[in-house]
Amino acid sequence: MPRQIIVAENSGFCFGVKRAVDMTVRCQSGGKMSHTYTLGPLIHNGNVVRSLREQGVREIGEEEIDRLRPGDTLVIRSHGVAPDVLDRIQKSGVHCIDATCPYVSSIQKKARKYHEEGYRIVIVGDRNHPEVIGINGWCGNTAQITRDGSDLKDLPDKVCVLCQTTEKPSNYEKTLEAIAGRSKEVLAFNTICSATKKRQDSADQVSRSVDRMVVVGGRHSSNTGKLFEICSANCRETILVENSTELPDWPIPGETTEKVGVAAGASTPEWVIQDVLGRLREPKA
Ligand code: SF4
Repeated sequence: MPRQIIVAENSGFCFGVKRAVDMTVRCQSGGKMSHTYTLGPLIHNGNVVRSLREQGVREIGEEEIDRLRPGDTLVIRSHGVAPDVLDRIQKSGVHCIDATCPYVSSIQKKARKYHEEGYRIVIVGDRNHPEVIGINGWCGNTAQITRDGSDLKDLPDKVCVLCQTTEKPSNYEKTLEAIAGRSKEVLAFNTICSATKKRQDSADQVSRSVDRMVVVGGRHSSNTGKLFEICSANCRETILVENSTELPDWPIPGETTEKVGVAAGASTPEWVIQDVLGRLREPKA
């Protein structure tokens, strides 16, 4: 019997990632290819980063900013950066392309505004993720960063809660529950990006109805990791692949139709998704 493939409705590049990749590619086609750098990997997807590298775009770390020459171009990725990093880039004289996702910029502005108004900023997210590190910079690195509120200590009277854009809603809700009654004034903004929520909802839905589930995306991608967590909870046969070469040789379905679901993170390009679908549809000997 054939294999039935069900693709989650919202899969692949989100608005912010597409914008960052387009801005970088546009810069290359302007003839500055050999002098274009990204501050860290442009997106958490090895396929895209390798492709950009082949076209002459190199990634650098923050410690290398001062080594760039005036006239070079430096792209700030969709995760954004802290204001002191922005200052260093501006002072270095390089041409800066700021591809910070507008949704992330909006969180940064909230962090600064409410920090200045005397609120302690609480960020629900991963303390090691560049987006969270950047947001924390906008409140003078004073934020309390938590996974789900369970580790929050010594909360002051005024608290403002923000989320990493790719956070799971359940962690935001748990954090609000943990704070309830402990601070007199709590401002809470659910800053989880709708692109993230849509991808999580459709992956959740598909993974409930299939025999196997394939999540396509970078191993270092936060949003892909969350999709994998959600799908694994619904379907024990869930795997994460970066591209089609990592697909296992599953046995040919027997008498009954095998349903295989596919979901892809917000940093997974369409050509990688199509490649995976092509491999899954391939008849095997
Ligand atoms: S997931 Fe949302 S916040 Fe993050 S880059 Fe994409 S559109 Fe922007």
